[in-house]
Amino acid sequence: MNRPTDDDCIFCSIVAGDIPSHTVYEDDEVLAFLDVNPLAPGHTLVIPRGHYPTFGDAPNTSLSAVFDTIGALTPAVERAVAADASNVGFNNGPASGQEVPHLHGHIIPRFEGDGGRPLHAVGGRPPDLADDEFEEIATSIADEL
Ligand code: AMP
Repeated sequence: MNRPTDDDCIFCSIVAGDIPSHTVYEDDEVLAFLDVNPLAPGHTLVIPRGHYPTFGDAPNTSLSAVFDTIGALTPAVERAVAADASNVGFNNGPASGQEVPHLHGHIIPRFEGDGGRPLHAVGGRPPDLADDEFEEIATSIADEL
């Protein structure tokens, strides 16, 4: 199958087998491997084989496969490292902190008292929205679908 690839992308090099990784799962659509700079033991990345920088670039088949894999892997990762919980998330675009421009989900095991923070810690200054602004935003999002 012809998938987009980028010669300058480190994750494409992992998909091609040109750079080694600690692979934990692979199939026709996705690859999952340990993050080389883990935030916790078992920190795992799940990527589509195709080079799609963000959600908006990726076809549904890749997105479905990534989410199915994350769904199956997350409890397995937790059990493997005896984690109490996990954070699962994506940096989606450079302004969010995404450093590798190849879509990837992070599974980050969490342990009671590990000093980490919830996903809510990633946001900027929270907006103070009135009810009509919530409604306007909700409508705008629905209109964009
Ligand atoms: P992000 O900031 O969401 O783009 O995260 C990129 C992640 O990729 C970081 O957590 C890096 O530690 C990880 N990473 C970069 N290069 C490699 C590599 N060769 N193998 C495994 N993980 C990597």
